[in-house]
Amino acid sequence: ADWFVALPKVELHAHLNGSIRDSTLLELARDLGEKGIIVFSDVEPVILKDDRSLLEVFKLFDLIHILTTDHKTVTRITKEVVEDFAAENVVYLEIRTTPKTNNSKGMSKQSYMEAVLEGLKSVSTVAVVFSHGVNEKNPFNSDVINNPSSETQEKKIFVRLLLSIDRRETTEAAMETVKLALDMRHLGVVGIDLSGNPVIGKWDTFLPALEFAKTQGLSITLHCGEVPNPEEIHAMLDFQPRRIGHACCFGDGEWKKLKSLNIPVEICLTSNIKTNTISSLDIHHFADLYKWKHPLVICTDDFGVFSTTLSDEYNMASSAFGLTKRDMFELSRNAIDFIFADDGVKRELQEIFASTERKLG
Ligand code: 5GP
Repeated sequence: ADWFVALPKVELHAHLNGSIRDSTLLELARDLGEKGIIVFSDVEPVILKDDRSLLEVFKLFDLIHILTTDHKTVTRITKEVVEDFAAENVVYLEIRTTPKTNNSKGMSKQSYMEAVLEGLKSVSTVAVVFSHGVNEKNPFNSDVINNPSSETQEKKIFVRLLLSIDRRETTEAAMETVKLALDMRHLGVVGIDLSGNPVIGKWDTFLPALEFAKTQGLSITLHCGEVPNPEEIHAMLDFQPRRIGHACCFGDGEWKKLKSLNIPVEICLTSNIKTNTISSLDIHHFADLYKWKHPLVICTDDFGVFSTTLSDEYNMASSAFGLTKRDMFELSRNAIDFIFADDGVKRELQEIFASTERKLG
């Protein structure tokens, strides 16, 4: 297991509010309990429950959002999430999060994202590198945006942000998120994600905002095929996003289209199994996609909600699909090709992998 921790890794599918430590969630819940806003004893078992259906997961997110939606907490969880990924040698991280409006907290989508940026700046265990694309609009005059403590200055993690559109949102709200992403490009925002409860909302509602994002040069990833919905899956693939997440409920026609378009798939094994979207690893589509050398990347989805780590996901894939350490190293390195950051970052990551290749053996 230590080998998988030491392996440099690239995380491309991690939702901020799904990647909160249980200990932090419980602490936040206890605080709100003391203030009489929630009943802690009702909430504790919900947080600690292990297996949840996909629909129960979205109920949990509604609870998590009650606990986290204020600026200070958003900053705190962002800092912790980056530190937790860095601790297991994630060297490049794309965090996705849904900008939220909350009038009672004076929160706008923009101020929510400013709180996220504060979180990146307050990371202390690792240097957070924004770099590349540094230009006159960039207020940071160095590549590193935080002040890591002196003993950790050597360790670094590249972080980029994706703004998520929630399927509950209107066309206008989705457009607001895309415009915010465009305004924040010089602050590490590289793309847009479409997520949220897959049985809610229509593709046509989000399409105008996604089209606009695409024409403006933002990279797009879509949660695609979490439930059987061939019509939507085809429409999403026709849109040609740069990546898709999950691809669980695909039929033959959908696989054929995906493979011919060669769109990389973000694979979240534990998430799929725990939500029972896929009944067991022996029938998981990872095996077929891997066999066909289809571009794919192993990710956590929500490491807090699903009690996993990226190292565990690599370890699990290796044993479930009979892959050697060599295979796993290549799988991890191949993910560099699918990141949304620019070629300069890709080159730096290639160097990191090349130098650890010798050490890891
Ligand atoms: P946030 O965007 O609030 O930082 O992270 C939590 C949100 O991510 C959830 O409310 C939901 O919209 C989205 N999300 C997290 N996990 C999943 C998942 O497995 N499937 C889908 N479709 N959305 C998810």
